Amino acid sequence: MYSLSAFFATACLTTVSLAGFAQISKSPLAPYISVSDPVIALTHVEVIDGTGAAPAMDQTIVLDHGKIASVGPSAGARIPSGTNVLDLRGHTVYPGLVGMHEHLFYVEPGRAQYGLVGGEMFQTGAPLYLAAGVTTARTTGSIEPYADLNVKRSIDSGLTPGPDFDVTGPYLEGPGSFIHQLHPLSGPADATRTVNYWAEEGVTSFKAYMFITPDELKAAIDAAHAHGLKITGHLCSVGFTQAADMGIDNLEHGIIVDTEFYSGKKAGTCPASRAPAQEMADKLDVTGEPVMAMIHDLVAHHVAVTSTLAVFEMSVPNHPSMDFLMREKGSMIPQAWTSVLETRALIAEHADKAIMPVLMKKEMQFEREFVAAGGLLMAGCDPTGYGAILPGFGDQRNLELLVDAGFTPEQAIQIYTQNGAKYLRREDRIGTIATGKQADLVVVTGDPAKDISAVEHVDIVFKKGVGFDPAKLVESTRGMVGIR
Ligand SMILES: [Zn+2]
Repeated sequence: MYSLSAFFATACLTTVSLAGFAQISKSPLAPYISVSDPVIALTHVEVIDGTGAAPAMDQTIVLDHGKIASVGPSAGARIPSGTNVLDLRGHTVYPGLVGMHEHLFYVEPGRAQYGLVGGEMFQTGAPLYLAAGVTTARTTGSIEPYADLNVKRSIDSGLTPGPDFDVTGPYLEGPGSFIHQLHPLSGPADATRTVNYWAEEGVTSFKAYMFITPDELKAAIDAAHAHGLKITGHLCSVGFTQAADMGIDNLEHGIIVDTEFYSGKKAGTCPASRAPAQEMADKLDVTGEPVMAMIHDLVAHHVAVTSTLAVFEMSVPNHPSMDFLMREKGSMIPQAWTSVLETRALIAEHADKAIMPVLMKKEMQFEREFVAAGGLLMAGCDPTGYGAILPGFGDQRNLELLVDAGFTPEQAIQIYTQNGAKYLRREDRIGTIATGKQADLVVVTGDPAKDISAVEHVDIVFKKGVGFDPAKLVESTRGMVGIR
């Protein structure tokens, strides 16, 4: 649709990009920007660099036109004249998060008769990710792929704030799905056709879903690889070992969704969810030989795993905390907020029968064993389920849960930064703090290495050297998650 205002926005933007940083005050992003100088020094700050190394104290980072020009001890740091110097004593800087299981849709409340209904978060998804420090995000399964692509283009053109997106194609799903918005594949040829079409439309990754058949999955993997693109899966009909042997690049969620150890598993079909989950809670030994063999098989095939602890936590009775939910409340439409509270209350009521507390422990143990075996673990918040986890807020919660799982805060940050960058083959540009890297940085109050909850206190998010104000980004979403 043509619109005059869109024309003026684009014309304005051209001026900005030609003139660079000097013109940023005239950019459509100006209302969300707190620091826009071309050269900025972050002085006397603690640095957690994303490699898993221990924090470095009293550092100075100089940002120059979107890149990290230098990083090192404040004593003796060279700061060019004309630099905007920010004294950040009491603050910590870590790399912009690389969210590897994110979505641009929100599960709308109150439509159970149509299964899950995902409404596109046109206006709210991207700013909420950026506000929380997520500067790169994979959409990991799209309900509206054209909408996701257009949100990405709007951000890339400097019209709206948000992370750099790796847009994933529509869910590659077999028949029988509980999401009526998806195209059910009719066989391997359809899987190939669908992948080819969306690769040409501009998506840069793919995701297979629960009811895909083994033949369709194999065809989708081969077609994605023929385009030089990677493919992940939230699988059910196909087990992790079988998918690794087929050549899949990544598996979502972890052992909680792997059906291969279920005694009632029939080849190529997805069993109803309660029985396998109950059996896993009752019997599965994550350190036993069969699971360890699967882990070693994933590592040998270079299959990455994405941790999504935050989306599972919402099914643990009385979790996440009301304090956490209150941080999200202002962004939701009232119906979404009510629906979240009702579902949370229902889960608490049936706490005696809950199996998620046990499954969470097993999942955490699986993630530790996978990393110990040399596996590449990444993370994302998966803002779906019954709607209690919003973009960005959920990523911060997921960092805290990785620490609950037994990782050090430095490791949790590495899982959320360098590891995702490695998978996306962008490690030379993003994911760690080093001279020459893109200036994607999160500034928080406090010390996440001592108390990981400091990641909730974001002061500035730098994306390519431009500093965004998280409070203004969150404010721009007020009362709109659930409708746009
Ligand atoms: Zn998901």
